[in-house]
Amino acid sequence: MTHLLLDLPPLSPARFASIEDRVARLLNTRQDVVIMQGEALLPLEGAIRGTAGPGTTALNVITGPYGQTFGDWLRDCGATVIDLTVPFHTAVTAGQVRDALAEHPQIDFVSLVHAEAATGNTNPVAEIGEVVRAHGALFHLDAVASIGAEPVLPDTWGVDLCVIGAQKAMGGPAGVSAVSVSERAWARMAANPRAPRRSYLSLLDWKERWIDGGRKALPHAPAQLEMLALEACVQRIDAAGPRAVMARHAAAAASTRAGALALGGGLEPYVRDAAEAAPVATTLRAPSGTVAADLVARALSADPALPLAAGGGALAAEMIRVNHYGPEATPGAVRASLVALGAALAEKGLDVDAAGALRAAEAAWR
Ligand SMILES: *Cc1c(COP(=O)(O)O)cnc(C)c1O
Repeated sequence: MTHLLLDLPPLSPARFASIEDRVARLLNTRQDVVIMQGEALLPLEGAIRGTAGPGTTALNVITGPYGQTFGDWLRDCGATVIDLTVPFHTAVTAGQVRDALAEHPQIDFVSLVHAEAATGNTNPVAEIGEVVRAHGALFHLDAVASIGAEPVLPDTWGVDLCVIGAQKAMGGPAGVSAVSVSERAWARMAANPRAPRRSYLSLLDWKERWIDGGRKALPHAPAQLEMLALEACVQRIDAAGPRAVMARHAAAAASTRAGALALGGGLEPYVRDAAEAAPVATTLRAPSGTVAADLVARALSADPALPLAAGGGALAAEMIRVNHYGPEATPGAVRASLVALGAALAEKGLDVDAAGALRAAEAAWR
C-alpha cells in the first residue's frame, strides 16, 4: 500500500489545471477556479483579506460559528462590519438581507455561509443573491458544507467568491480546497492595497503567477496526494451523477428528521422548519434533562463509526449532530444512528419507539 502513495510521478501543471476545470464544471461556473493548497479556511481567509479593507462596509450574515469567524477577519482587515445574526435554529431570509442593505446603503460586501454543518441550517442563496446583486455589493459565499449535498451555482446566483472544500458532502480530502473568483472580485483585490501579496493567503499571487501565465507553471509544489484525492472524489461524484449524490443527502436528512421525531423521548429537530434544514447534517435538540454530549458518547461507545457528534462549544449540551457526509449519507447509517440514539435515550429512562423510528425513517427516505 505504502508505495502506492509514495512512488508517484510529479503532478504536472496540465493535470493540476484539469482538476481545476473539473471543479469548475461541478460548480457550473465560467469564473476562474483556484485550488488552494490547504484546508477551506485558507481560501475563505484569502478571499476576505483580499477583497476587504478599511474602505469596505461589510454585511456579515451569522447563522452559525463560521459567520462569527468571518466577522472577526473582516474587522481585522479594517472593514466596517454590520452583523446580521439570526437564531441558529433558523435560516436568514432574503427579506432580512434586503432590509439590512436598505438600512446601510454603503454596504459593498456581503458574506454568507450557505449551509452550516455546525448548526444544521441552510440559507436561500438564490433569493439572497438577487438582493445582493440588485444592491451591487460583492458577494462572498462559504459553500463548504453545501457542495455535493445541494445545488451550488455561483454564476446563476451572482456569487463573486464561492469557496468549497471536499471534506463534507463530497466525501473527499480536507487538505486542498477551491474558490471561484469573478472578474469583479479580481478587480476589487487588485485595487486593494492591503490584499495579501507574496503570501500563502494570496489569491492575487495565483492569478499573476498561474492563471495569467496560461496555467503553465505552478507557483510552488502542489499537495500532490490531496490533489489526486480531490480528482478521484470529483470523478466519483460525476460517475454517480451530482443530482443523485444530492438526492441521497436530501433523503438522509429527511429520513433522519422523520426518524428522530418518531423516536420520541423528547428528541426534536434543532432546525425547526424542515425547509431550512441542511442536507449535509441533521441537528437534533437533546431532550430536557439530558446532555447531548453524554448521549452521543453513549451511542459512540456502542459503535465508534457512527456519524454522530455533539454540537461544538456551548452547543455541546443541547445539540446532537447526525452527519451525512458523502459515503455516510446512506439508509444504513441513518438507521444505525437512530437505533444508537434510541438506546442512549432509553438508558436515561426515556420512552422511545425504535421500531417506529425505523419505519418513519424508511418511509421518508423514499
Ligand atoms: C466544515 C466547514 C468549513 C471548514 O472548516 P473545518 O471545520 O476545518 O472542516 C468551513 N465552513 C463551513 C460552513 C463548514 O461547515
